[in-house]
Amino acid sequence: MYNIKSTKADEFINHQEILDTLKYADENKNNLELINKILDKARPKYLGDEVHCEGLSYRDASVLLANDDKEIEKKIFDLAREIKKAFYGDRIVIFAPLYLSNYCVNGCVYCPYHYQNSTIPRKKLTLEEVKKETIALQDMGHKRLAIEAGEDPVNNPIEYILDCIKTIYSIHHKNGAIRRVNVNIAATTIENYKKLKEAGIGTYILFQETYNKEAYKNLHPKGPKSNYEYHTEAMDRAMQAGIDDVGLGVLFGLDRYRYEFAGLLMHTQHLEATYGAGAHTISVPRVKNADDIDKDSFKNGISDEIFYKIIALIRIAVPYTGIIISTRESAEVRKKALELGVSQISGASRTSVGGYCEESRPKDTEQFDVSDERTLDEVVCWLMELGYIPSFCTACYASGRTGDRFMSLCKTGQIQNCCQPNAIMTLKEYLEDYATDSTKKVGDELIKREINKIKNEKIKSLTKENLKKIENNERNFRF
Ligand code: SF4
Ligand code: SF4
Repeated sequence: MYNIKSTKADEFINHQEILDTLKYADENKNNLELINKILDKARPKYLGDEVHCEGLSYRDASVLLANDDKEIEKKIFDLAREIKKAFYGDRIVIFAPLYLSNYCVNGCVYCPYHYQNSTIPRKKLTLEEVKKETIALQDMGHKRLAIEAGEDPVNNPIEYILDCIKTIYSIHHKNGAIRRVNVNIAATTIENYKKLKEAGIGTYILFQETYNKEAYKNLHPKGPKSNYEYHTEAMDRAMQAGIDDVGLGVLFGLDRYRYEFAGLLMHTQHLEATYGAGAHTISVPRVKNADDIDKDSFKNGISDEIFYKIIALIRIAVPYTGIIISTRESAEVRKKALELGVSQISGASRTSVGGYCEESRPKDTEQFDVSDERTLDEVVCWLMELGYIPSFCTACYASGRTGDRFMSLCKTGQIQNCCQPNAIMTLKEYLEDYATDSTKKVGDELIKREINKIKNEKIKSLTKENLKKIENNERNFRF
């Protein structure tokens, strides 16, 4: 039986409830009266300086996803753009993945790190290599990392992950610093989540891959990850251990997208109902080619059009949750996704173990083929030319604004008073320390325009003062 507050996987992600949802969505997909009601419900309500959004239940959002009328799709896209603008303004947060190790004991059939792949070179960074990679990432301008590692209790025990986090935070090369380390490692125990919390991680990220239990079993034939319940309940354990910010995601292409979409929203709504804060971020990866993985062997791949609609509907259904898109997607797809709701992107990613120190992109240990191979400077300049403010902000983490404290600021739109100036100041740091001359020129012009959009006069004047200080080589200002 479906129970939103249960901590049992089969109850908070309930198969029958998803089937009933999809049936309801099919029955109502052309019910224009209901569809317009749902869209009205999701519309932002402006009250003075504050803006509120109700979001949508997985049932309502599933009705919108089932509809295939182009006019309704346009309304969905327009609404997603409006919500994105109201809560995120023009800033786009940038991060990079750092792969620590591709040793893995699991048999995930969509990932080249699966234990049966005997041809892929296995590699694990030493702490000295982690240090070098961190310096290389800092020298590009990154401030926010997502560390990734396969599951292997012998090669990648929790102590190794903790040592890597400690090493990353300890490095300050020139003006560089990694100010937030997000962690994407396998489902683990409450005890280990507590250790991650103590190590000062940002978001704990774990993709569900697929919410369909039957499909999950077939896709995960071996290893600890084959335990659907243990994997699905991981975020509950993380939150019980005190980790406030968790990041969800499914790998689109593994199972039917409408099932996954309902499951994903069900999951975040379960976390919100049970722990007071839903997912901090949702990632939207699609299956890609890699070493021994052929994406065409997966029969549930989704077109770009469906992909955009899913992103827009996530933005509408959970307005306060960041949406992340990686370099799995091309520049063109990322451009459209940014418009419709994506708020964070990776830049200049290397999806091999290490590789940031090397001149050219190493391919031998890549987890997936990278579609967007531009440098960070190119991505930053591209974003600015599209009218966005690339942001290296990590202020909420540094100020302890996480979980429900973050959500309460977010839910009134007040977070914008922090995001906008923080984006400007961290962009200025980037321009001073790492940008090419042409990117710096574009950026300084953008900052001149954007600073006038800060509504609060006191914050505007403080931001201007801080920009001068940044020019004089002071760093790390935040609101
Ligand atoms: S997806 Fe993760 S757990 Fe599965 S094989 Fe790849 S690295 Fe291992
Ligand atoms: S102020 Fe907080 S929410 Fe806004 S960009 Fe910075 S870290 Fe993110």
